[in-house]
Amino acid sequence: MKINTKVLHGYEITDKTTGSSSVPIYQASTFHQHDLDSHSGPIYSRFSNPSRSGLCEAICAIEEAQYAEIFASGMAAISASLLQFKQGDHIVACRNIYGGTFQLMTEMLPAYGIEVSFVDATDPHNYLAAIKENTKAFYVETPSNPTLQITDLQGVISIAKKHNVLTICDNTFMTPLLSNVIALGVDISINSATKFINGHSDVVLGTLATNSASLAAKIHKIAVVLGGIAAPFDCWLTMRGLKSMAMRVKQASDNARQIAEFLACHPKVKQVFYPGLAGHAGHKIHMAQSKNGGMIISFDLGSYQNVTKFLQALKIPLVAVSLGGIESIISYPAKMSHACVSPKERLEQGVTEGLLRYSVGCEDAEDLIEDLKAALTVI
Ligand SMILES: *Cc1c(COP(=O)(O)O)cnc(C)c1O
Repeated sequence: MKINTKVLHGYEITDKTTGSSSVPIYQASTFHQHDLDSHSGPIYSRFSNPSRSGLCEAICAIEEAQYAEIFASGMAAISASLLQFKQGDHIVACRNIYGGTFQLMTEMLPAYGIEVSFVDATDPHNYLAAIKENTKAFYVETPSNPTLQITDLQGVISIAKKHNVLTICDNTFMTPLLSNVIALGVDISINSATKFINGHSDVVLGTLATNSASLAAKIHKIAVVLGGIAAPFDCWLTMRGLKSMAMRVKQASDNARQIAEFLACHPKVKQVFYPGLAGHAGHKIHMAQSKNGGMIISFDLGSYQNVTKFLQALKIPLVAVSLGGIESIISYPAKMSHACVSPKERLEQGVTEGLLRYSVGCEDAEDLIEDLKAALTVI
Protein backbone atom coordinates (compact mmCIF):
# COMPACT_ATOMS: atom_id res chain seq x y z
CA MET A 1 0.00 0.00 0.00
CA LYS A 2 1.41 3.42 -0.96
CA ILE A 3 1.46 6.33 1.44
CA ASN A 4 -1.60 8.36 0.32
CA THR A 5 -3.69 5.19 0.57
CA LYS A 6 -2.06 4.11 3.80
CA VAL A 7 -2.90 7.28 5.77
CA LEU A 8 -6.56 6.69 4.80
CA HIS A 9 -6.91 2.91 4.79
CA GLY A 10 -3.90 1.37 6.54
CA TYR A 11 -6.01 1.04 9.72
CA GLU A 12 -9.68 0.96 10.70
CA ILE A 13 -11.07 4.44 9.94
CA THR A 14 -14.70 3.54 10.66
CA ASP A 15 -16.27 2.78 14.02
CA LYS A 16 -16.30 -0.94 14.70
CA THR A 17 -19.84 -0.96 16.14
CA THR A 18 -21.80 1.51 13.95
CA GLY A 19 -19.68 1.90 10.82
CA SER A 20 -19.62 5.69 11.30
CA SER A 21 -17.15 7.37 8.95
CA SER A 22 -14.86 8.43 11.79
CA VAL A 23 -13.99 6.67 15.04
CA PRO A 24 -16.19 8.69 17.43
CA ILE A 25 -15.12 10.72 20.44
CA TYR A 26 -15.80 8.20 23.22
CA GLN A 27 -16.19 10.86 25.89
CA ALA A 28 -16.40 8.46 28.83
CA SER A 29 -14.26 7.80 31.85
CA THR A 30 -15.63 4.34 32.58
CA PHE A 31 -17.56 1.48 30.88
CA HIS A 32 -20.51 -0.60 32.08
CA GLN A 33 -19.57 -4.20 32.82
CA HIS A 34 -22.50 -6.49 31.91
CA ASP A 35 -20.85 -9.51 33.43
CA LEU A 36 -18.20 -9.31 36.14
CA ASP A 37 -16.65 -12.63 35.09
CA SER A 38 -16.43 -12.22 31.34
CA HIS A 39 -16.09 -8.46 30.62
CA SER A 40 -13.88 -8.01 27.58
CA GLY A 41 -14.28 -4.36 26.45
CA PRO A 42 -12.62 -1.25 27.82
CA ILE A 43 -12.72 -0.80 31.61
CA TYR A 44 -11.55 2.69 32.43
CA SER A 45 -10.25 5.42 30.10
CA ARG A 46 -6.83 5.75 31.69
CA PHE A 47 -6.24 2.07 30.84
CA SER A 48 -7.81 2.25 27.38
CA ASN A 49 -10.39 4.22 25.42
CA PRO A 50 -11.73 3.35 21.93
CA SER A 51 -10.83 6.80 20.53
CA ARG A 52 -7.26 6.34 21.72
CA SER A 53 -7.13 2.74 20.47
CA GLY A 54 -8.25 3.98 17.03
CA LEU A 55 -5.37 6.43 16.91
CA CYS A 56 -2.97 3.70 18.13
CA GLU A 57 -3.88 1.61 15.07
CA ALA A 58 -3.30 4.60 12.78
CA ILE A 59 0.12 5.28 14.31
CA CYS A 60 1.08 1.61 13.95
CA ALA A 61 0.14 1.86 10.25
CA ILE A 62 2.25 4.94 9.47
CA GLU A 63 5.19 3.81 11.65
CA GLU A 64 4.98 0.25 10.24
CA ALA A 65 5.22 -0.86 13.85
CA GLN A 66 3.34 -3.50 15.81
CA TYR A 67 2.71 -1.50 18.97
CA ALA A 68 1.92 2.14 19.73
CA GLU A 69 1.03 4.21 22.77
CA ILE A 70 -0.63 7.64 22.74
CA PHE A 71 0.27 10.34 25.29
CA ALA A 72 -1.04 13.76 26.35
CA SER A 73 2.05 15.43 24.81
CA GLY A 74 5.31 14.68 23.07
CA MET A 75 7.04 15.29 26.41
CA ALA A 76 4.82 12.69 28.14
CA ALA A 77 5.86 10.14 25.48
CA ILE A 78 9.53 11.07 25.93
CA SER A 79 9.24 10.88 29.74
CA ALA A 80 7.61 7.44 29.53
CA SER A 81 10.40 6.19 27.24
CA LEU A 82 13.05 7.33 29.74
CA LEU A 83 11.30 6.32 32.96
CA GLN A 84 11.71 2.66 32.00
CA PHE A 85 15.28 3.11 33.26
CA LYS A 86 16.27 2.94 36.90
CA GLN A 87 18.78 4.14 39.42
CA GLY A 88 22.33 3.42 38.24
CA ASP A 89 21.46 3.38 34.52
CA HIS A 90 23.25 5.58 31.98
CA ILE A 91 21.94 7.11 28.73
CA VAL A 92 23.90 8.74 25.88
CA ALA A 93 22.02 11.58 24.15
CA CYS A 94 22.67 14.05 21.34
CA ARG A 95 23.86 17.47 22.51
CA ASN A 96 21.53 19.51 20.28
CA ILE A 97 18.35 18.14 21.78
CA TYR A 98 14.80 19.46 22.22
CA GLY A 99 14.74 21.91 25.17
CA GLY A 100 12.13 20.03 27.21
CA THR A 101 14.02 16.76 26.80
CA PHE A 102 17.24 18.54 27.87
CA GLN A 103 15.50 19.78 31.04
CA LEU A 104 14.13 16.30 31.76
CA MET A 105 17.59 14.77 31.33
CA THR A 106 19.49 17.37 33.35
CA GLU A 107 17.00 18.53 36.00
CA MET A 108 14.75 15.50 36.65
CA LEU A 109 16.42 12.17 35.77
CA PRO A 110 19.52 12.77 37.97
CA ALA A 111 17.19 12.90 41.00
CA TYR A 112 16.15 9.30 40.15
CA GLY A 113 19.79 8.22 39.80
CA ILE A 114 19.66 8.07 35.98
CA GLU A 115 22.74 9.64 34.41
CA VAL A 116 22.89 11.21 30.92
CA SER A 117 25.99 12.05 28.82
CA PHE A 118 25.62 14.42 25.87
CA VAL A 119 27.65 13.93 22.69
CA ASP A 120 28.12 15.58 19.30
CA ALA A 121 25.80 13.32 17.31
CA THR A 122 27.18 14.16 13.86
CA ASP A 123 29.75 11.39 14.39
CA PRO A 124 28.33 8.01 15.56
CA HIS A 125 31.71 7.15 17.09
CA ASN A 126 31.01 9.71 19.81
CA TYR A 127 28.15 7.45 20.96
CA LEU A 128 30.55 4.50 20.99
CA ALA A 129 33.15 6.46 22.97
CA ALA A 130 30.54 7.43 25.59
CA ILE A 131 29.44 3.84 26.34
CA LYS A 132 29.95 2.74 29.93
CA GLU A 133 29.24 -0.53 31.69
CA ASN A 134 25.81 0.75 32.76
CA THR A 135 24.78 2.35 29.43
CA LYS A 136 21.23 1.29 28.60
CA ALA A 137 20.17 3.59 25.73
CA PHE A 138 21.19 5.93 22.93
CA TYR A 139 18.81 8.86 22.43
CA VAL A 140 18.82 10.57 19.01
CA GLU A 141 17.09 13.39 17.14
CA THR A 142 17.84 14.04 13.48
CA PRO A 143 17.86 16.65 11.98
CA SER A 144 18.62 18.55 15.19
CA ASN A 145 16.83 21.68 16.33
CA PRO A 146 17.40 24.39 15.12
CA THR A 147 20.58 24.03 13.01
CA LEU A 148 19.44 20.74 11.42
CA GLN A 149 22.59 18.75 12.09
CA ILE A 150 22.40 15.19 10.81
CA THR A 151 22.95 11.96 12.74
CA ASP A 152 23.81 8.81 10.81
CA LEU A 153 21.02 6.59 12.17
CA GLN A 154 22.36 3.36 10.74
CA GLY A 155 25.78 4.11 12.23
CA VAL A 156 24.34 4.75 15.70
CA ILE A 157 21.96 1.76 15.53
CA SER A 158 24.68 -0.70 14.55
CA ILE A 159 26.88 0.44 17.47
CA ALA A 160 23.88 0.12 19.79
CA LYS A 161 23.03 -3.40 18.62
CA LYS A 162 26.63 -4.54 19.02
CA HIS A 163 26.67 -3.29 22.61
CA ASN A 164 23.17 -4.38 23.54
CA VAL A 165 21.95 -0.81 24.03
CA LEU A 166 18.42 0.42 23.13
CA THR A 167 17.95 3.22 20.58
CA ILE A 168 15.23 5.84 21.11
CA CYS A 169 14.59 8.34 18.31
CA ASP A 170 12.56 11.55 18.52
CA ASN A 171 11.47 11.69 14.87
CA THR A 172 9.21 14.77 15.13
CA PHE A 173 11.05 16.77 12.44
CA MET A 174 11.00 14.11 9.69
CA THR A 175 7.85 12.16 10.70
CA PRO A 176 7.42 8.44 9.88
CA LEU A 177 6.37 9.40 6.34
CA LEU A 178 9.74 10.92 5.41
CA SER A 179 12.00 8.75 7.54
CA ASN A 180 10.83 5.35 8.73
CA VAL A 181 13.11 5.00 11.73
CA ILE A 182 11.48 1.75 12.91
CA ALA A 183 12.38 0.12 9.58
CA LEU A 184 15.91 1.53 9.97
CA GLY A 185 16.11 -0.40 13.26
CA VAL A 186 15.45 1.99 16.17
CA ASP A 187 13.75 0.30 19.11
CA ILE A 188 11.47 3.19 20.07
CA SER A 189 10.18 5.93 17.74
CA ILE A 190 8.65 9.03 19.31
CA ASN A 191 6.74 11.88 17.68
CA SER A 192 5.31 15.06 19.05
CA ALA A 193 2.05 14.68 17.10
CA THR A 194 1.40 18.30 18.10
CA LYS A 195 3.49 19.04 15.01
CA PHE A 196 3.15 17.39 11.57
CA ILE A 197 1.02 14.34 12.48
CA ASN A 198 -1.96 16.39 13.66
CA GLY A 199 -0.73 19.32 11.61
CA HIS A 200 -3.31 21.97 12.48
CA SER A 201 -1.80 23.73 15.53
CA ASP A 202 -4.84 22.84 17.62
CA VAL A 203 -3.75 19.79 19.67
CA VAL A 204 -0.88 18.85 21.99
CA LEU A 205 -0.29 15.07 21.78
CA GLY A 206 2.54 12.53 21.67
CA THR A 207 3.02 9.08 20.13
CA LEU A 208 5.42 6.23 20.77
CA ALA A 209 5.87 3.16 18.56
CA THR A 210 7.90 -0.04 18.86
CA ASN A 211 8.13 -3.56 17.43
CA SER A 212 9.14 -5.10 20.74
CA ALA A 213 6.32 -6.75 22.73
CA SER A 214 8.28 -6.47 25.98
CA LEU A 215 9.08 -2.76 25.47
CA ALA A 216 5.44 -2.11 24.52
CA ALA A 217 4.24 -3.79 27.72
CA LYS A 218 6.70 -1.78 29.83
CA ILE A 219 5.70 1.52 28.21
CA HIS A 220 1.98 0.71 28.47
CA LYS A 221 2.36 0.12 32.20
CA ILE A 222 4.19 3.46 32.60
CA ALA A 223 1.43 5.24 30.60
CA VAL A 224 -1.32 3.71 32.75
CA VAL A 225 0.41 4.21 36.10
CA LEU A 226 1.86 7.71 35.51
CA GLY A 227 -1.34 8.65 33.71
CA GLY A 228 -0.05 10.97 30.97
CA ILE A 229 -2.62 9.63 28.49
CA ALA A 230 -4.33 11.67 25.73
CA ALA A 231 -8.00 12.71 25.91
CA PRO A 232 -10.59 11.21 23.48
CA PHE A 233 -11.25 14.54 21.73
CA ASP A 234 -7.54 15.14 21.12
CA CYS A 235 -7.20 11.60 19.71
CA TRP A 236 -10.16 12.25 17.40
CA LEU A 237 -8.69 15.55 16.19
CA THR A 238 -5.34 13.87 15.57
CA MET A 239 -6.95 11.05 13.56
CA ARG A 240 -8.71 13.70 11.51
CA GLY A 241 -5.46 15.61 10.98
CA LEU A 242 -3.54 12.46 10.09
CA LYS A 243 -5.83 11.70 7.15
CA SER A 244 -4.38 14.68 5.23
CA MET A 245 -0.82 14.17 6.48
CA ALA A 246 0.66 12.66 3.30
CA MET A 247 -0.66 15.56 1.20
CA ARG A 248 0.49 18.16 3.73
CA VAL A 249 3.97 16.69 4.06
CA LYS A 250 4.36 16.53 0.28
CA GLN A 251 3.24 20.12 -0.30
CA ALA A 252 5.18 21.57 2.66
CA SER A 253 8.45 19.76 1.86
CA ASP A 254 8.14 20.80 -1.77
CA ASN A 255 7.65 24.42 -0.67
CA ALA A 256 10.55 24.15 1.79
CA ARG A 257 12.97 23.02 -0.92
CA GLN A 258 12.03 26.00 -3.12
CA ILE A 259 12.31 28.44 -0.20
CA ALA A 260 15.69 27.02 0.88
CA GLU A 261 17.01 27.43 -2.65
CA PHE A 262 15.72 31.02 -2.75
CA LEU A 263 17.26 31.93 0.64
CA ALA A 264 20.57 30.24 -0.19
CA CYS A 265 21.01 32.63 -3.16
CA HIS A 266 19.88 35.79 -1.35
CA PRO A 267 22.70 38.27 -0.54
CA LYS A 268 21.11 39.43 2.75
CA VAL A 269 20.93 35.90 4.16
CA LYS A 270 24.17 34.97 5.94
CA GLN A 271 23.61 31.23 6.13
CA VAL A 272 20.89 28.68 5.36
CA PHE A 273 20.47 25.32 7.08
CA TYR A 274 18.37 22.80 5.15
CA PRO A 275 19.34 19.12 4.84
CA GLY A 276 17.89 18.98 1.32
CA LEU A 277 20.54 21.40 0.01
CA ALA A 278 23.59 19.65 -1.48
CA GLY A 279 25.93 21.97 0.47
CA HIS A 280 24.42 21.08 3.88
CA ALA A 281 26.75 19.09 6.17
CA GLY A 282 25.36 15.55 6.33
CA HIS A 283 23.22 16.01 3.19
CA LYS A 284 24.20 12.60 1.73
CA ILE A 285 23.56 10.73 4.99
CA HIS A 286 20.26 12.54 5.44
CA MET A 287 19.06 11.69 1.94
CA ALA A 288 19.98 8.03 2.45
CA GLN A 289 17.74 7.80 5.54
CA SER A 290 14.93 10.19 4.46
CA LYS A 291 12.73 10.77 1.42
CA ASN A 292 13.57 14.49 1.18
CA GLY A 293 14.92 17.51 3.08
CA GLY A 294 11.79 17.98 5.20
CA MET A 295 9.67 20.99 6.06
CA ILE A 296 12.01 22.99 8.33
CA ILE A 297 14.63 25.57 7.35
CA SER A 298 16.82 27.74 9.56
CA PHE A 299 18.58 30.85 8.33
CA ASP A 300 20.75 33.58 9.75
CA LEU A 301 20.08 37.28 9.17
CA GLY A 302 23.23 38.43 10.97
CA SER A 303 21.78 40.43 13.89
CA TYR A 304 18.82 40.78 16.25
CA GLN A 305 18.07 44.18 14.72
CA ASN A 306 17.69 42.57 11.30
CA VAL A 307 15.48 39.86 12.78
CA THR A 308 13.03 42.32 14.38
CA LYS A 309 12.76 44.48 11.23
CA PHE A 310 12.30 41.38 9.07
CA LEU A 311 9.60 39.88 11.32
CA GLN A 312 7.69 43.18 11.39
CA ALA A 313 7.63 43.18 7.58
CA LEU A 314 6.82 39.48 7.09
CA LYS A 315 3.09 39.00 6.43
CA ILE A 316 2.22 35.31 6.00
CA PRO A 317 3.75 33.09 8.75
CA LEU A 318 2.66 33.05 12.38
CA VAL A 319 5.48 34.28 14.59
CA ALA A 320 5.27 31.65 17.31
CA VAL A 321 6.85 28.69 19.05
CA SER A 322 5.98 25.25 17.67
CA LEU A 323 6.10 23.94 14.13
CA GLY A 324 4.41 21.48 11.82
CA GLY A 325 1.16 23.36 11.23
CA ILE A 326 -0.60 23.47 7.86
CA GLU A 327 0.16 27.20 8.06
CA SER A 328 3.76 28.46 8.05
CA ILE A 329 5.24 29.27 11.47
CA ILE A 330 8.44 31.22 12.05
CA SER A 331 10.30 31.11 15.39
CA TYR A 332 13.19 32.98 16.93
CA PRO A 333 15.11 30.21 18.77
CA ALA A 334 17.27 32.52 20.96
CA LYS A 335 14.17 33.93 22.70
CA MET A 336 11.83 30.94 22.22
CA SER A 337 12.96 27.27 22.14
CA HIS A 338 16.44 28.05 23.47
CA ALA A 339 15.59 30.87 25.91
CA CYS A 340 16.40 28.65 28.92
CA VAL A 341 19.84 27.73 27.53
CA SER A 342 22.75 29.92 28.68
CA PRO A 343 24.04 32.44 26.06
CA LYS A 344 27.37 30.61 25.89
CA GLU A 345 25.78 27.17 25.39
CA ARG A 346 23.37 28.74 22.85
CA LEU A 347 26.23 29.97 20.70
CA GLU A 348 27.97 26.60 20.96
CA GLN A 349 24.77 25.05 19.57
CA GLY A 350 24.79 27.53 16.68
CA VAL A 351 21.82 29.53 17.99
CA THR A 352 23.08 32.97 16.99
CA GLU A 353 21.17 36.24 17.50
CA GLY A 354 20.35 36.38 13.79
CA LEU A 355 18.94 32.84 13.52
CA LEU A 356 15.31 32.15 12.55
CA ARG A 357 13.58 28.78 12.14
CA TYR A 358 10.92 28.53 9.46
CA SER A 359 8.39 25.67 9.59
CA VAL A 360 7.06 25.76 6.06
CA GLY A 361 3.33 25.25 5.61
CA CYS A 362 1.06 24.37 2.71
CA GLU A 363 0.50 27.83 1.23
CA ASP A 364 1.67 28.45 -2.36
CA ALA A 365 5.47 28.59 -2.59
CA GLU A 366 5.26 31.66 -4.85
CA ASP A 367 3.38 33.62 -2.15
CA LEU A 368 5.75 32.53 0.61
CA ILE A 369 8.80 33.51 -1.47
CA GLU A 370 7.27 36.89 -2.45
CA ASP A 371 6.61 37.54 1.25
CA LEU A 372 10.21 36.66 2.19
CA LYS A 373 11.59 38.71 -0.69
CA ALA A 374 9.64 41.81 0.38
CA ALA A 375 10.58 41.45 4.07
CA LEU A 376 14.27 41.03 3.18
CA THR A 377 14.27 44.44 1.45
CA VAL A 378 13.79 46.21 4.83
CA ILE A 379 17.06 44.96 6.32
C1 LIG B 1 7.60 19.97 20.18
C2 LIG B 1 8.64 18.94 20.31
C3 LIG B 1 8.66 18.06 21.42
C4 LIG B 1 7.68 18.19 22.57
O1 LIG B 1 6.38 17.89 22.19
P1 LIG B 1 5.08 18.45 22.97
O2 LIG B 1 3.97 17.84 22.19
O3 LIG B 1 5.13 19.94 22.94
O4 LIG B 1 5.19 17.92 24.37
C5 LIG B 1 9.64 17.10 21.47
N1 LIG B 1 10.57 16.98 20.51
C6 LIG B 1 10.59 17.79 19.43
C7 LIG B 1 11.63 17.60 18.40
C8 LIG B 1 9.63 18.79 19.30
O5 LIG B 1 9.66 19.61 18.24
